[in-house]
Amino acid sequence: MNPADIKGKRVTVIGGARSGLAVAKLLAGAGAEVFLTEKGEATRGLEQALDAAGVAYEFGGHTRRALDADFFAISPGVPSTINIVQQALRGGLQVFSEIEVASWFCAAPIVAITGSNGKTTTTSLTGHIFRNAGRTTVVAGNIGYPFSDYVRGLAEDAVVVLEVSSFQLDHIDTFRPRVGVLLNITPDHLDRYNYDFDQYKQSKFRLFENQRDDDVLVFNHDDALVREYVAFLKMQRGLHAIGFSYEDALDEGAFVREGRIVLRINQQEEILMEAQKLALPGRHNLHNSLAAAIAARVMEVRSDVVRESLTSFEGVPHRLEFVREIDGVRYVNDSKATNVNAVWYALESYNEPIVLIAGGRDKGNDYSSLKPLIRRKVRAVVALGESAEKVMDELASLAEEGAQAASLEEAIRYAHFFAAPGDIVLLSPACSSFDMFDNYEHRGDTFRRLVRSL
Ligand code: ADP
Repeated sequence: MNPADIKGKRVTVIGGARSGLAVAKLLAGAGAEVFLTEKGEATRGLEQALDAAGVAYEFGGHTRRALDADFFAISPGVPSTINIVQQALRGGLQVFSEIEVASWFCAAPIVAITGSNGKTTTTSLTGHIFRNAGRTTVVAGNIGYPFSDYVRGLAEDAVVVLEVSSFQLDHIDTFRPRVGVLLNITPDHLDRYNYDFDQYKQSKFRLFENQRDDDVLVFNHDDALVREYVAFLKMQRGLHAIGFSYEDALDEGAFVREGRIVLRINQQEEILMEAQKLALPGRHNLHNSLAAAIAARVMEVRSDVVRESLTSFEGVPHRLEFVREIDGVRYVNDSKATNVNAVWYALESYNEPIVLIAGGRDKGNDYSSLKPLIRRKVRAVVALGESAEKVMDELASLAEEGAQAASLEEAIRYAHFFAAPGDIVLLSPACSSFDMFDNYEHRGDTFRRLVRSL
């Protein structure tokens, strides 16, 4: 929709968290009559903020008043399955996600990054490259800064690096990234897709739905599911797809040859750098780094800036974050590893023996893919939280040693006891944190604090 057409429109915003407030303000600022509805109570300061923006609201549930609208704008935290959204859809109202609405106001090109794992890392890394290149850069989206808060007044020569979740993609219409990056697709969040992997997959692929010939699609060539779908898209719509791969040399894309990163884009080949100079460890981070490099080069960032940025990036907290070395043992916080796939990559990232601390709230984990790695690399498993018994049975039984801990503090003491000089103690839970902590950050912060006080 054109921002000029928003004036006078009646819009209902569903969800009063950060993105909801941001999109409500954006729409009200463009002259819409905005009504925000939130099922919970108002958080501190929210009513004042809405009053100041001229937005009407209701808290504690959604009433019929919400349906009196020309369209809905929905926060990413709100499932599309809730009654009021279903009623709106049945009544023929359009429902747009927050990034869709923000994109109407965006004059700058968008580099949009999605996938099951690696979004935040790749988004931060890509933002780091553009900033080093001296570009006006907005890093926003799922990463914690609503796109709507930053979009107004952005110049055409700025760049927006946007972390996009599948929930946001569920309700796009014209959202069109200049560069769309798809990192991987593995089962996650299936609770919001009727436990249907196919639905989840389809929503990720919507990232490319509005791309045209002069846009670029960046994809993981090593992910068979992604690769096959992109091949189909290329055939069907002739999109410009550039892959990245750890395994194969590509006709067009980024890959590793004899330890060096090679970029082959628009029929030009360049050797970017030695793979081992990358700041972030592990094969997954090689993928993330290659994806970021392609996005930056496509947007005409110079190679030397890309190279320097990939070497200097300090990483993102709670993702394989190095905390401290004690007696030759390195402690690593990977609290963000809330699914099995992330733990697989974490274990893959180290050649040293690992003492793994895992467990928490289980989302229906299938641990089979981890078992060979546990046998091969893990010295001990310390099980924690609600799923401790399952972790003991399925994982600790395969390592030399195992223990069940009643608290994170106790888990660290066990890990300290099991570890030998040269080992890695790795908190990579494969589970969410809500059984013992407020969120994964709280779990990671606690781990960091406890390790520092050892
Ligand atoms: P997201 O934002 O998609 O959740 P993060 O960058 O926060 O991704 O990383 C989440 C977890 O996944 C971390 O444990 C991290 O080490 C791991 N990870 C990062 N990149 C990848 C990748 N490309 N493939 C698989 N796992 C990854």
